[in-house]
Amino acid sequence: MDKKYTAEPYRIKMVEPIRQTTREERITLLEKSGFNPFSLRSEDVYIDLLTDSGTGAMSHNQWAALMRGDEAYAGSRSFYRLEKVIKDITGYRYFIPAHQGRGAEQVVLPQFVTKPGMSFISNMHFDTTRAHVELAGARAIDCVIDECFETQNYHPFKGNFHLERLRELIKARGADNVAGIIMTVTNNSAGGQPVSMENLRQTSDIAKAHDIPIIIDGARYAENAYFVKQREKGYENKSIHEISKELFGLADVFLMSAKKDGLSNIGGIIAIKEDDALFERCRTYIVPMEGFPTYGGMTGRDMEALAVGLQEALEEDYLRHRLDQVRYLGDRLRDAGVPIQHPVGGHAVFVDCKTMCPHIPFDQFPAQSVVNAVYLEAGVRAVEIGSFLLGRDPDTKENLQSPLELMRLTIPRRTYTYTHLDVVADAVIAVYARRNELKGVTFEYEPPVLRHFTSRLKPVT
Ligand SMILES: *Cc1c(COP(=O)(O)O)cnc(C)c1O
Repeated sequence: MDKKYTAEPYRIKMVEPIRQTTREERITLLEKSGFNPFSLRSEDVYIDLLTDSGTGAMSHNQWAALMRGDEAYAGSRSFYRLEKVIKDITGYRYFIPAHQGRGAEQVVLPQFVTKPGMSFISNMHFDTTRAHVELAGARAIDCVIDECFETQNYHPFKGNFHLERLRELIKARGADNVAGIIMTVTNNSAGGQPVSMENLRQTSDIAKAHDIPIIIDGARYAENAYFVKQREKGYENKSIHEISKELFGLADVFLMSAKKDGLSNIGGIIAIKEDDALFERCRTYIVPMEGFPTYGGMTGRDMEALAVGLQEALEEDYLRHRLDQVRYLGDRLRDAGVPIQHPVGGHAVFVDCKTMCPHIPFDQFPAQSVVNAVYLEAGVRAVEIGSFLLGRDPDTKENLQSPLELMRLTIPRRTYTYTHLDVVADAVIAVYARRNELKGVTFEYEPPVLRHFTSRLKPVT
């Protein structure tokens, strides 16, 4: 196995101090947070691996671009600059900005829900995507390959659609009742796992044969393209730009949280290949939801920074280091015997807490217990991706059981060093050593939607 990890393709020009706390302080802080690190203050976190969303460092070119921001309400120069970059990357005709990914989702997804009883099918819906599908009155069905759930077994493209099941689902529900097929690249909820071009092409063929719209949920499309280049035959010599272009060619609509591969702190993208009517509907609908269609909830300066960030995220030196950092943390954990989703994906290392803590039942959220223990150990903030996040069945209100109980250690872009990742690895390995002593958690307060953000928990005694 390749044990070389590329050094940073940048040098540090500005620093932000971070503070280590004592274990005693962290015991109190965690209790006050309701055993839910989402409620911690960031100042009480030493290394913050909650998310890679909007937490990356901007380049000096992005900071310089901020100064060019045109804050005109309508027809901003910054809009046109960003539009040009997005048209160039996607080859699509239309672009509308949104304040972030979920803003794009709330505008676009309801346009496809034309009657009751419809469903979206995705390799795996991200949590806000699922929420917007449900708010639009549709159902979200996941259709990923089974290998995705076999965390210890290597598969180069664990984000792939299960094509046979996709055909069966369309047949069983009737193509008219499928509102859209959502290609999530990379597959965030399963560990940032890539999807192969071959699989996406076949998925696209199936959708087209049934006249079903295809939507790319492409928050991390550049990371996906880099995996394709590394792992898929025939793509070794293609540029990230070329591979991405081919991906966009397979779909009708591209939704993006620009807080990921946009290398920006805020922003969202709606791009539409050629459907004039859909574009007109989205342009009308975005005004009351996000704002006038040339700013859509973004400032002019943020659009400038995003225009630069989107291009930087396609650079191979950047992507190689980015993915090497994730691989480094993954290798350190695997070498110590910690069960992780293997191979690691593009933005995070996912620790398999079902395997790690089989003594904690799914509705006492084993991964949340591990997350809390890792915070206590070293002030590192991770996040649960499992049954706690999945929530309840909308009909029966029963807790849904997630096939995976994962702790996500999410690496922000260009933010931490390999030495920081050593602190993280040491903390997780220490918790792993006393995994049998960990106890589950239950609810003290549970909100009705997206409960993982604001719930208060308590340890099971
Ligand atoms: C982050 C993300 C979203 C939502 O985007 P926000 O910018 O957080 O609103 C949607 N889909 C995927 C795959 C994501 O990773």
